[in-house]
Amino acid sequence: MPEGHKIHRLANELNQKFKGTRVDAESPQGRFSQSAALINNSVLVGAQAWGKHLTIEFEKDLFVHIHLGLYGRCKFWQTPGLQPKETVRLRLRNLESIFDLTGPNCCELFDDKERQELYARLGPDPIHPSANYETVWKKIKNSKVPIGKILLEQNKISGVGNIYRAEALFAMEINPNRPAKELKKVEFERLWDWLVTYMRLGVSRNRITTNFDSAKETMIYGKAECPQCQRQVVKWNLGGRKMYACFDCQK
Ligand SMILES: [Zn+2]
Repeated sequence: MPEGHKIHRLANELNQKFKGTRVDAESPQGRFSQSAALINNSVLVGAQAWGKHLTIEFEKDLFVHIHLGLYGRCKFWQTPGLQPKETVRLRLRNLESIFDLTGPNCCELFDDKERQELYARLGPDPIHPSANYETVWKKIKNSKVPIGKILLEQNKISGVGNIYRAEALFAMEINPNRPAKELKKVEFERLWDWLVTYMRLGVSRNRITTNFDSAKETMIYGKAECPQCQRQVVKWNLGGRKMYACFDCQK
């Protein structure tokens, strides 16, 4: 599943290619046809990412809400007249560009109220300039839930996926099994700052990078050996996804 930086990239590209232009909308696959008809031939006001959720605003306060899930894919084309595949759930097109969405977990039309309800359910997104760790801290500081699990809970903090959580906790030397309430506030602040730095770097580099030196490699995610102490990395299921940690380096 794409982590938050991918969705921000997607919103940026949609804005570059479609913002302020009149677009045609259709659903070659058919499952979004009725909604596509409502936004067809209207101006795309702008796209916004919040964690793993993408919303595309159209005239008259209509919003397409997209969650890619495991199988969703987006593709941009610069080929006018290109025929869509029959699996395309949503195609947007203006005079220069085409955007095709296939296989999303969710693609639905929202009004402004529904969009606000969605945002109200989501925790702050570290990539957003306005996001603030204090909001997250208030929600988690009395929680017995392991910090490694909390980082995936999108109602607490938005956009962190499996790779960023393992890397962030390793970088901060925090054991993922520690209940959130046992973290000091300053530890959580440093963890948040790490996520802000590296998730924003992920947007600008268009891939997950978790250290500035060896830019291509993760530090602990997917590894067998700890890069710091060379002991064996422990793998286990935490919050439904595989966690990687070194219990010698992470306390
Ligand atoms: Zn280690």
